[in-house]
Amino acid sequence: MTMLLPSMADDPTATLVLLRFSGDVHIKSRATRHQFVRRLIGNLHDALTAHGVAPRVHTSHNRILIELPADTPHGFLGRVFGIQSLSRVETRCASDANTIVRAGTELFRERVAGKRFAVRARRVGNRNRIPIASGAIERELGAALLPSAAKVDLGSPEVTVHVEVTEREAYLFANREPAEGGLPLGVEGRAVTLLSGGFDSAVAAWQLLRRGVVQDYVFCNLGGITHEVGVLRVAQVLAERWHYGHQPILYAIDFEAVTAELRAKTARRYWQVLLKRLMLRAAERIARQRRAAAIITGEAVGQVSSQTLQNLAVISRATDAMLLRPLVGSNKAEIINTAQRIGTFELSKVVGEYCDLVPHKPATAASFEAIDAEEARVDLAILHTAVDRARKFDLRNLERAQLEIPELEIEQIPPGAALIDLRSKAEYESWHHPDALWLEFQQAAATYPSFERGRRYVLVCQYGLMSAHLAERMRKDGFDAFHFRGGTRALRRSVEPA
Ligand code: ATP
Ligand code: MG
Repeated sequence: MTMLLPSMADDPTATLVLLRFSGDVHIKSRATRHQFVRRLIGNLHDALTAHGVAPRVHTSHNRILIELPADTPHGFLGRVFGIQSLSRVETRCASDANTIVRAGTELFRERVAGKRFAVRARRVGNRNRIPIASGAIERELGAALLPSAAKVDLGSPEVTVHVEVTEREAYLFANREPAEGGLPLGVEGRAVTLLSGGFDSAVAAWQLLRRGVVQDYVFCNLGGITHEVGVLRVAQVLAERWHYGHQPILYAIDFEAVTAELRAKTARRYWQVLLKRLMLRAAERIARQRRAAAIITGEAVGQVSSQTLQNLAVISRATDAMLLRPLVGSNKAEIINTAQRIGTFELSKVVGEYCDLVPHKPATAASFEAIDAEEARVDLAILHTAVDRARKFDLRNLERAQLEIPELEIEQIPPGAALIDLRSKAEYESWHHPDALWLEFQQAAATYPSFERGRRYVLVCQYGLMSAHLAERMRKDGFDAFHFRGGTRALRRSVEPA
């Protein structure tokens, strides 16, 4: 870590970004704060390196100053947890009052025109060595800007001009971008997260990443290669956007033998609850290997029939590990909003509900006794074997091939093939391939067994996941089916070359 330098930034052409610690970091005792800030700086180094920038990070008091090569986008810094807000420094100058007032007037005269404004100045560093009073800067720069502005308004200004004065330099800016706050990733230990690819579990993971909890992911595969690719794409967003400072692993467990065992030996109405218990046991086994203190799920009270309060109680009993359900009291709309903000929404949307275990009338209030009796018939060795054979994915270094489904994919429409567009009617009508027939996914999934055999089918959807899923299912039933790689965007490019 670089400590306060006489001039904090070395390269005069660099873009400077000022980061403020989150309240969660601020309120800690000195020793804890020191430890948290060290972790935060390590995570910032990782973020900068991941974005191809040599890390130049300076800390002073409750600020961090980052130097970026000119014109480098800096938005990713707001995704490093532990930072409350950030500002790109718009100009820097020598730290004497006249220079500051001149630079500030030139920079902000037009921006305050006709507006209510305020000037906020502060000294950063050893105040005894900074012979300028911040009040004087506020008054003098304020007076210089006033002729262009509507008026000074310290209560609710439309434009705030900030000046930070260090020993040798002053930094001027008017922007303040909110960041995610929270705690630096890693300061709160480690957990294992059950990730289904749906909206909830990704959001649950993110909420606890923001609380500093490092996570690895456990995925129980119920839907073949297309389910796996769908989940990997969601996990990759979490890993690449929100895991600065840590390299998460995803464990993919093939649950086919486990679900077969459930179907063969237990009563249908308990399948959902039993399946969740078995997933928890799988996660517990991996948590032990990873020395993780907790298991995270995306469950919320009452969201689906397996998540009644009573069922959640019965599910919890499957493990002694601490279970964290950060979404337990959230509404679906709140979860969806967060999914959009963190970048998982579009990808989670296309990960179908792969669980074909869902019975029509699941038990909404399974009793402990009933579940114990049912579960006693299940051979847990099958689960343990499946867990021990889990495949591991290094989520920040996925290869392209791991995110594609090559044998199902096609990039041109073969002559004579039937092209089926699986999107909604509105999407189909806004653009479609001239030869494409429209059949919405659900309907296609229900009716394909009656399609003409011996014909070749090419399916297309927006992102190429639903189409891959259906092509995989059709193939299992003996159809000659493919999906169009890259979805409708790629299809459109193939017929409308730029
Ligand atoms: P999600 O949106 O996360 O899929 P959900 O509302 O669809 O949640 P369920 O499908 O009942 O609810 O799943 C509840 C939780 O169980 C999920 O949030 C996740 O933590 C875990 N889970 C469900 N399916 C899987 C799976 N196939 N692999 C790993 N974990 C899973
Ligand atoms: Mg789900």
